Amino acid sequence: MSLIVQKYGGTSVADIERIRNVARRVTACRKRGDDVVVVVSAMSGETNRLLALAHDMCPEPDKRESDVLVSTGEQVTTALLAMALTHGGCPAVSLQGHQIRIVTDQAYSKARIRSIDDARIRAELAAGKVVVVAGFQGVDEDDNITTLGRGGSDTSGVALAAALEADSCEIYTDVDGVYTSDPRICPQAKKLARISYDEMLELASLGAKVLQIRSVEFAKRYSVPVHVRSSFTDTEGTWVVAEEASMEDVLVSGVTSDSNEAKITLVGVPDQPGLAARVFGPIADANIVVDMIIQNASAEGTTDLTFTVPKADFKQAIALVETLKRETNAKGVRTDENIAKVSVVGLGMRSHAGVAAKMFRTLADQNINIQMISTSEIKTSIVVDAKYVELAVRVLHDTFIGKEPDA
Ligand code: ADP
Ligand code: ASP
Ligand code: MG
Repeated sequence: MSLIVQKYGGTSVADIERIRNVARRVTACRKRGDDVVVVVSAMSGETNRLLALAHDMCPEPDKRESDVLVSTGEQVTTALLAMALTHGGCPAVSLQGHQIRIVTDQAYSKARIRSIDDARIRAELAAGKVVVVAGFQGVDEDDNITTLGRGGSDTSGVALAAALEADSCEIYTDVDGVYTSDPRICPQAKKLARISYDEMLELASLGAKVLQIRSVEFAKRYSVPVHVRSSFTDTEGTWVVAEEASMEDVLVSGVTSDSNEAKITLVGVPDQPGLAARVFGPIADANIVVDMIIQNASAEGTTDLTFTVPKADFKQAIALVETLKRETNAKGVRTDENIAKVSVVGLGMRSHAGVAAKMFRTLADQNINIQMISTSEIKTSIVVDAKYVELAVRVLHDTFIGKEPDA
């Protein structure tokens, strides 16, 4: 007998019929003799609807209350699915984040899971029930409701699988696996049978929202095998697993894009020791994650510092940088929201030179200007004007992965 954690995303629980479909899948798994813990998202569109309500109420909703509001989406789904299961003869119980003490830090809307108490879940499983857990939500040490960031139910699923030492975590979604690129942007994308945690970490952090990055961090840290698959078919999906020897043979395993960042340039700052610390200290203190950074060569004792931040934190970051401009006597602040980051990822990049050069050549052939570049051992990312994002993804996919659709 195995213990399986199954996470169903928003489209898989979008309406009553789809929730019944999930109940049928879960029941089939129970009938095979496995224990099942199900993690559900809010019904498709519900989290956006709730966020819009909050913004209708006030332009900058209180973060604590916003989390109280948006966490209700998942609660609805847990109850409906537990009803469907029990009604169909498969006893089930719904549990919310606070009832199993999914304890997080206090970073509302982007909280991190610190601990999970598995006692209640184990007791319910021992009583023969399917446990249906609300994804995306937890509580801080003072019992305030928190949420884990968009796509956070993936992280709830994998973190629960880790805490329960489950045999695997199945992520059910509206695609039948992880593809070499977002199939919505790149019709030539191919389904990957297996992918390493490290590559998946890069893909997720660089825009492949099929898995939330923190879910992959948990999977890697606790060696949870993750199976990404469709809730609408029975085809085998993609296994996200520890690196295997043959994986390095593939030069590029994915091309991603991310349009959720914006660029800020602090122009003409004095080029002195401690400057970067002075600029990025307050930004880090505000819990804003800075992604790419470039500093121009110094000219006449001053330099330009350009970096990207999530669009959600753009306004706050600009306010901080305006203050820094005054404090450092910088010449100005330039901002640009119309950018996109495009990346190629692959374990094979560790041992093969020339990927970055080939990437730049491919973009040059299309007359696409590169604004920023960053590299790591297994990825190269560039920032381009947002209007080129889809073209850049497609030509890079053609170059590194091929033009032919999956056989
Ligand atoms: P869910 O609601 O089930 O969590 P998401 O919308 O969060 O689903 O994630 C699934 C979507 O991720 C797919 O519909 C697809 O458009 C997108 N996606 C982006 N990159 C990839 C990729 N490399 N492989 C598969 N899907 C991807
Ligand atoms: N419902 C949340 C969201 O839309 C969490 C999730 O679906 O994973 O982001
Ligand atoms: Mg998702």
